[in-house]
Amino acid sequence: MAEPGRLGVLEANLRQVNNRIDEAMAACGRRDRPTLIVVTKFFPPEDVMLLSRLGIRDVGENRDQEAAAKAEAVSSAELRWHFIGQLQTNKARSVVGYAHAVHSVDRTSLVSALEKAMRRANRPPAIESVGTVARSAVLDCFVQVNLSVEDRGRGGARPSDVLEVAAAIHAADGLRLAGVMAVAPLDEDPREAFSRLTDISTDVVAQYPDARGISAGMSGDLEQAIAAGATHLRVGSDILGARPPVG
Ligand SMILES: *Cc1c(COP(=O)(O)O)cnc(C)c1O
Repeated sequence: MAEPGRLGVLEANLRQVNNRIDEAMAACGRRDRPTLIVVTKFFPPEDVMLLSRLGIRDVGENRDQEAAAKAEAVSSAELRWHFIGQLQTNKARSVVGYAHAVHSVDRTSLVSALEKAMRRANRPPAIESVGTVARSAVLDCFVQVNLSVEDRGRGGARPSDVLEVAAAIHAADGLRLAGVMAVAPLDEDPREAFSRLTDISTDVVAQYPDARGISAGMSGDLEQAIAAGATHLRVGSDILGARPPVG
């Protein structure tokens, strides 16, 4: 028998991940399905095209150079690009050129840079395709929270700074406060880390009732994230395969 091509591999992996999502939702009695963002970092534009054929609409990237090139290369797909990596202020202008959402907003200086970039970008008032990329007049922004007890500089605002960053996003023209985002620390049970994120989300929603997003859950911990109320999952390796180790 012929080996399944790349499309078949991605289809099978996606089906598995979707089954895990179904089971995790059933286990905690959830009915609202989280948005699956497929993280395509390190994988070529051809894979993004195949994912688009398989019905994926949301893709995630963590480096601007790679994301910008991929968004440009994937010409026939109607996709929403989610920026999920640490972001320098001098990259804000490039990122608003293709991104539907930034999940890694962790300081007020970045909020200012994104606001300024959105003002210059003059994005259209309704969701529409500009060239090839689905964008809208507003940029969805999640406040990234650092859930590590010891700060290891992986990005993210300290929990005590989250409301300040949220307020800045809320006040900024062209940005929409979507909610909070986090990566579970490696040295802790993700349930405990995500439960702190849920508490932080509750504080944010108390002040900004529309900012209900919780971006949490990766290949290894999507079940725990779903149980904690994640609205956006960011899944890479369990769909695309192992990435080369990052040096
Ligand atoms: C790479 C990455 C992911 C996806 O991780 P996997 O373990 O491959 O599913 C999710 N979130 C962020 C912020 C990432 O950088």
